[in-house]
Amino acid sequence: MDRYSVQKVIGEGSFGRALLVLCETSKEKYVVKEIQLPKNQSKVDKSRSEAVLLSRMKHPNIVAFREAFEADDLLWIVMEYCSGGDLLQRIQRQKTAQFCVDEIMKWFAQMCSAAQHIHDKRVLHRDLKSKNIFLTDNGTIKLGDFGSACILNSSKAYAHTYVGTPYYVAPEIWENKPYNNKSDVWSLGCVLYELCTLRHPFQAPSWKSLILKVCRGAYPPLPKHLPYELQYLMKQMFKTNPKDRPSLHTILTSHRVSRLLREHL
Ligand code: ADP
Ligand code: MG
Repeated sequence: MDRYSVQKVIGEGSFGRALLVLCETSKEKYVVKEIQLPKNQSKVDKSRSEAVLLSRMKHPNIVAFREAFEADDLLWIVMEYCSGGDLLQRIQRQKTAQFCVDEIMKWFAQMCSAAQHIHDKRVLHRDLKSKNIFLTDNGTIKLGDFGSACILNSSKAYAHTYVGTPYYVAPEIWENKPYNNKSDVWSLGCVLYELCTLRHPFQAPSWKSLILKVCRGAYPPLPKHLPYELQYLMKQMFKTNPKDRPSLHTILTSHRVSRLLREHL
């Protein structure tokens, strides 16, 4: 740990802290996710899996893993620093001015490409949301926070263990069905909607009414000025039956979306 000096705390969560550090030899900045290792051995493996799964990813739109090590009861995951902050902060900074379609499509294509890489490695992210999507100083998307990720096939029903924000959770999860690749697609649909409107697609005063809206797939329509292809894509990503929802491969290769991307990138 003495190879890195801590500059400041940039995030705090139930796991521990995210620290901005300086590497003493290279003088480069990195982020360290400092995780308090639990006393229970089976939970320790769960904490370690975040480092293991992140280290398997190599993609221009996924936070680059540098190294991980343990000392005392702490696990340190050293990774690339994304100085542009997270996408939620970026959306909140926007206040009322909408993003232009070019920007929305550029970010969306980058997130889909990152998520497709994860799925190709037979991993599910399971916590895709604007707060877990980071930006570099030049505005490139970097998907992060593999703290909930798991290997495909080992996924059990998930609702009982879910502790995060409920806005991005797919209907099948509330129905206590297994988490699958299409559940990540649903969550990305929520982020796409947020980029288009600066609001969550599913919002309600109570958990119960929120879950009802999600399970009906009932969201306020996108603003009329957005291209028809985008409205269509939104509808596909919010199909309540995961089988009817497109995979990331389908999204990235569909004629409608490729046309959108061609016109706006
Ligand atoms: P948690 O499990 O608490 O959600 P995250 O990995 O999402 O942990 O990190 C918490 C916060 O710290 C993020 O929302 C983000 O604001 C910041 N953060 C984490 N990793 C990075 C990074 N590589 N670059 C910049 N900010 C980061
Ligand atoms: Mg997070």
